[in-house]
Amino acid sequence: MNIAIIGGGASGLFAGGILCDAEQIISIFDGNEKVGKKIYITGKGRCNLTNNTTVEEYLNNVVNGSKFMMSAINRFDCQDTINFFENNGLPLKTERGNRVFPVSDKASDVTKVLLNRVKDCDLKLNEKVVFIKEDKESNKLLVKTEKEEYLFDKVIVATGGKSYPATGSSGDGYKFAKMLGIEVVKPRSALVPIKLNDKFCPLLQGLSLKNVTLKAVINGKKRELFGEMLFTNDGISGPIALSMSSYIAENQNVSLSIDLKPALSEEQLEKRLLRDFNENLNKNISYIIKGLLPRSLVSVFLNVCEIKEELKVNSITHEMRKTIIKNLKDFKLSYSSLYPLECGIVTGGGISLKEINPKSMESKKVKGLYFIGEVLDIDCLTGGFNLQTAFSTAYACATSIIEENNRS
Ligand SMILES: Cc1cc2nc3c(=O)[nH]c(=O)nc-3n(C[C@H](O)[C@H](O)[C@H](O)COP(=O)(O)OP(=O)(O)OC[C@H]3O[C@@H](n4cnc5c(N)ncnc54)[C@H](O)[C@@H]3O)c2cc1C
Repeated sequence: MNIAIIGGGASGLFAGGILCDAEQIISIFDGNEKVGKKIYITGKGRCNLTNNTTVEEYLNNVVNGSKFMMSAINRFDCQDTINFFENNGLPLKTERGNRVFPVSDKASDVTKVLLNRVKDCDLKLNEKVVFIKEDKESNKLLVKTEKEEYLFDKVIVATGGKSYPATGSSGDGYKFAKMLGIEVVKPRSALVPIKLNDKFCPLLQGLSLKNVTLKAVINGKKRELFGEMLFTNDGISGPIALSMSSYIAENQNVSLSIDLKPALSEEQLEKRLLRDFNENLNKNISYIIKGLLPRSLVSVFLNVCEIKEELKVNSITHEMRKTIIKNLKDFKLSYSSLYPLECGIVTGGGISLKEINPKSMESKKVKGLYFIGEVLDIDCLTGGFNLQTAFSTAYACATSIIEENNRS
């Protein structure tokens, strides 16, 4: 069987390796001069390639597409990914949040493993695919690139989403699908920084808050995420802010706030403040707040509370104390918008899952055409779940092609 894989990213290379092992004839097309460009920048150059967790926990981290992923993740789960890379000579380690990285801390080592497995494939680099068409005469699929035209028995589209287009993923898979009458769910930002209207952002730029809860009400629905976040020049980023962005769609009504002290109830905070106040009656209020919050947040926090930093503790009124407690538990942020989808860690939306057989990733409309990885309308939270999705969908596709071939 003659098979084309369009896209030499995580999913395309992984599928290519399995098919190569089964001695299929594979051509991998990539518009770039080298494969796996996005893999190099994953996990800040360290590649968080999966999560050391159960199928159930994986599914809890899929924002869109969890039902669709049931079959694929059960066939190739996170432990399978770990075993695959270790059996291919890449020692791995598990860090906070069960995130799995190579011991070497080098994303390039992940690419090396994937590339090594496709060394017998026909790697067509610098060859961007322009469109895919059904060729009625030969009953095959025609792949037209910027250089040539080819006929294949099967074509696997692994072109990724639209995020970080400099890595090669510029949304071409959506165009191919539309030209073939396959429905595409409008691509949208996911795992992107959130822009705020608050004037204090530049003052807090670079401030990382650990062990806080980011709270949101999105079109009336409450969400809370606990962990780490970061202030940027014009908003918020970091794990829980990026994750929260995946739940926000265009034109939704969003209100945001931070519980700066999630481990303490209002009553516990009140007791703590009263104790601190009694012990420091002649100190400035900023001295007390410094004991509760990171230094760089103190001025902004007291400004939001409308309390002067130099006010003596013995002048703090009951009302002021209540305001401090309220803001510690519910520090309001003014939501502006999400960053554009090009800035996202992943792209939400993509090939409609209604169009795809979840066992094989084959299009229900076009026989022999498959979609894997981020091009599909699936997006997950951070933690290695997006690469796991790329591997699981690639596995489902490649093994189903091999099984079909063995049957015929
Ligand atoms: C900064 C950043 C950090 C990330 N970190 C993590 C992480 O640590 N863990 C995690 O799980 N996920 C991470 N992700 C997400 C993860 O990288 C992607 O979900 C994953 O790479 C998707 O794999 P893919 O094979 O579907 O697409 P891609 O990896 O995007 O590959 C698509 C390939 O298709 C090629 N292509 C596109 N169009 C054409 C065409 N017309 N012709 C030929 N070739 C084409 C591209 O050149 C590219 O090589 C991160 C993403 C970013 C942007």
